[in-house]
Amino acid sequence: MRLIDTARFIVDHNVGKLARWLRIMGYDALFFNGSNDSRMIATALAEGRVILTRDTQIMQRGVVTRGQLKAILIKSDRPELQIHQVIAALNLDCQFRPFTICLECNQPLEVRSKEQVKELVPPYVFQTQNQYMECPACHRIYWRGTHWQAMTERLQQFMKS
Ligand SMILES: [Zn+2]
Repeated sequence: MRLIDTARFIVDHNVGKLARWLRIMGYDALFFNGSNDSRMIATALAEGRVILTRDTQIMQRGVVTRGQLKAILIKSDRPELQIHQVIAALNLDCQFRPFTICLECNQPLEVRSKEQVKELVPPYVFQTQNQYMECPACHRIYWRGTHWQAMTERLQQFMKS
């Protein structure tokens, strides 16, 4: 069993693009948009989240150096190298639970039937797609269209390179 099956993240604003990539894989990745490091650390501790950041000061906090809180210092400023680092460091599965988390607000998606989304998606999508998910928070409708596939394929490309 992968230890990391339960991994949850809090993504610092300086590596914000990581949140979307992690959500594409199906990992719970909260985006932290504040400047108050102590609040980010408190949330990470309370919710058992791994911190992803480029901020070296966070790495020097006692809770991190003592190992109470896991934090990963992201080395690159290039998003594809950043996600590569996280995947390698934690042995994440690119195909963990794709298509399960809202890319915008990190909420678990809910299954919708084709009939339920009939009025909500473009006609060509309705004709060609059978599986739909909805975000209960922002009400975006997702389907496994070409965009999702392209993102997943890019992710796999990163890991090969
Ligand atoms: Zn949403």
